[in-house]
Amino acid sequence: MSAGAKKTLLAVVLALFVCQLSMANECKDAKFIGNKTSKIYHKPDCAAVKKMKEENKVAFASVEEAKKANYRPCKRCIDVKKKEDKSGKK
Ligand SMILES: [Zn+2]
Repeated sequence: MSAGAKKTLLAVVLALFVCQLSMANECKDAKFIGNKTSKIYHKPDCAAVKKMKEENKVAFASVEEAKKANYRPCKRCIDVKKKEDKSGKK
C-alpha cells in the first residue's frame, strides 16, 4: 500500500468515526419515551419520564415511530406547533 492510500484510508476511518459520534448524539436527542398506560410519548428529560415506572416505558427512535404506535405527544415536553400562541402567555 502506498503512503497516499494509507493516508486516504485513515481519513475515511476518521470521518466514519466522527460520523458515528455525531449520529449517536442525534440518536440521544431523537429518542422519545412512551408510556404504555397513557399512550403518551415524552422527551427523555421530561419530568413525567422520571416518574414513569420502568415497566411502562417504551422507547421510540422518532416521532414517526411513536405515531405509528398510536402514541400522542406530551403537551409539556413535546413542541407541538399549534395556533394556540395566545394562550401560551405567562
Ligand atoms: Zn412529557
